[in-house]
Amino acid sequence: MKYKILIFDLDDTLIDNKENVRAAFKRMLAYRGLVYSGSEFEHWYGIDKRFWSDWQDGLVELPARFKHEVGKKSHEYLDWVRAQRVLLYFNNSIRLEYAIELNNVFMKALGETIHAIDGTHSTLQYLSKRYKLLVATNGPKIATKQKLEKIGCRQYITEILSADMFGYMKPKIEFFEAIEKKYADFNRSDYLIIGDSLKSDVGFGMNVGIDSCWFNKDNDELDDRYQPTISIHKLSELVDML
Ligand SMILES: [Mg+2]
Repeated sequence: MKYKILIFDLDDTLIDNKENVRAAFKRMLAYRGLVYSGSEFEHWYGIDKRFWSDWQDGLVELPARFKHEVGKKSHEYLDWVRAQRVLLYFNNSIRLEYAIELNNVFMKALGETIHAIDGTHSTLQYLSKRYKLLVATNGPKIATKQKLEKIGCRQYITEILSADMFGYMKPKIEFFEAIEKKYADFNRSDYLIIGDSLKSDVGFGMNVGIDSCWFNKDNDELDDRYQPTISIHKLSELVDML
């Protein structure tokens, strides 16, 4: 066994995020008295993905009052950031406070109905006997814990590490340095990061200098800016590999 610690991404690696987002989006629309449709969902899903990608790339302008916040952020700051997707979806036709309220409905619902990716339970169960398993996510810690509990996998994970604990998102090296501080007895060669995102997971491994496993469940073409150490199409492939 070459590795000692496996770091798993959460959304779209262990959890079927799109189905979860769909259920939460339905709840948010119902709260606002609107009817769900598949095309509205695709619209929301696109805004949500694009927003977080822009956010990671530093393309979202922060109000001056938050610019001094570095590292761990205030609730007010996090509420503002998350509410921006809601404002974009409603074309800025609602107030910030109401967007925050709608986002809270959305986030609460996100933690309630959870769909796991195929093979999550059996794969984690098997690997947990051989490796220390961590989850490192750019999502909020509370929702992550709830999701893992809902799919019956919390007991296989030694620790949940989330961007909101440290104030840095994957693929930022500071996120890994915060993890490394907690596991000071291990070397970078002991780690493998496993995730669906080339940018956040494979890119994280490359930035930090640890091996990465690209979970390419949709059979996407590999972007040649990224070099995963290994690639899989199904989680259960890890059982034979590791
Ligand atoms: Mg992911």
